[in-house]
This record gives sequence, C-alpha cells and structure tokens, in this order.
Amino acid sequence: MKPVIALVGRPNVGKSTLFNRLTRSRDALVADLPGLTRDRHYGEGRVGERPFLVIDTGGFEPVAKDGIMHEMAKQTKQAVAEADIVIFIVDGRQGLTPHDKTITDFLRKSGRSVMLVVNKSEGMKYTSVTAEFYELGMGDPYVISAAHGDGVADLVEESLDLA
Ligand code: GDP
Ligand code: MG
Repeated sequence: MKPVIALVGRPNVGKSTLFNRLTRSRDALVADLPGLTRDRHYGEGRVGERPFLVIDTGGFEPVAKDGIMHEMAKQTKQAVAEADIVIFIVDGRQGLTPHDKTITDFLRKSGRSVMLVVNKSEGMKYTSVTAEFYELGMGDPYVISAAHGDGVADLVEESLDLA
C-alpha cells in the first residue's frame, strides 16, 4: 500500500499548486479564485524511489453550516480519515488566521500525524515567515514555496518517514 498524504488548509493557501507539483499533473485546478477545487482529488507522486498517493482538498471552511463550504469541510474530513499523514498548509504571506486555529483543533482531534507547512515563503527569512505560527502548538513549521518548488522534495521525504 502506498502511503497517503492529505493536503489540508483553508482556501487559497496553495494546496492545489502543491498537488500539481507533487503529481506533475494539470489535473487539479489552480486558480486565483479561492476554493475553486471543490472535490477531493487523488494523484500519484514519487520522490526518489518512494511512491505515494496525495489527496488535494477544496479547503476547510469550519464556520459554514450548509452549502458548498460545508461540503468542502466534509470532504476534508474524509481525506484526513483516509490519510497516513496530513500536510497542513498555511499562508506565510497572509499570516495566521482564526480558520487556521480551528483547523489545528480539528486535526489534533483527528489523531493523525500532521506536518505544519508555511507556503509562499519564497524570498522570506525562516524566522520571520514562521514566527506567528508557533502559536498553533505544532512545533517547528516547514517552509516551502509550492509555486517555486523550494523545500518540497524535503517535505515529502520527511512526511513519508512519518507516515
Ligand atoms: P488552494 O485554494 O489552497 O488550492 O490554493 P491554490 O493552489 O489554488 O493557490 C492559490 C493562489 O496562491 C494562486 O494564485 C497561486 O498561484 C498562489 N500560490 C500558490 N503557491 C504559492 C507560492 O509558493 N508562492 C506564492 N507567492 N504564491 C503561491
Ligand atoms: Mg485548490
């Protein structure tokens, strides 16, 4: 069985960009419209000799009770239930938001192994781009740029070690 990595985070943090980079496919829709990818989306990737499955999700919107956003949260929960490891993505440019905290609480309750990843960190110093995310209590964040590829291979190797 290939290990399963779920990409979780609020809309627009770069989940689909990372998914595309990991699977090298154009399948997941990347757009400037937040939350455009509304279905769970499976892909296969490989780092070195190690194959894995990755699930893209539409984005966790914890406050909505009905409609499309609620559906997206449900799908994220299903993806987390199926995952061996969760990559929890936050946005280093926008910074910490209340939704990030709600997702943290949900992930903690899920009992899954979680890696906290600060995306969009290209051109930024580790200490400044990560500082506010320590508040989430998930230890040292990984920093990546999904768009540029910085840190992505290392992140996946570490995540497979935890899976
Ligand atoms: P999703 O909603 O979490 O799937 O986010 P997307 O992958 O659709 O990306 C949302 C926006 O963030 C798009 O405009 C991306 O081009 C942009 N983005 C994604 N990764 C990066 C990154 O590493 N750096 C920067 N600067 N922008 C990024
Ligand atoms: Mg998306």
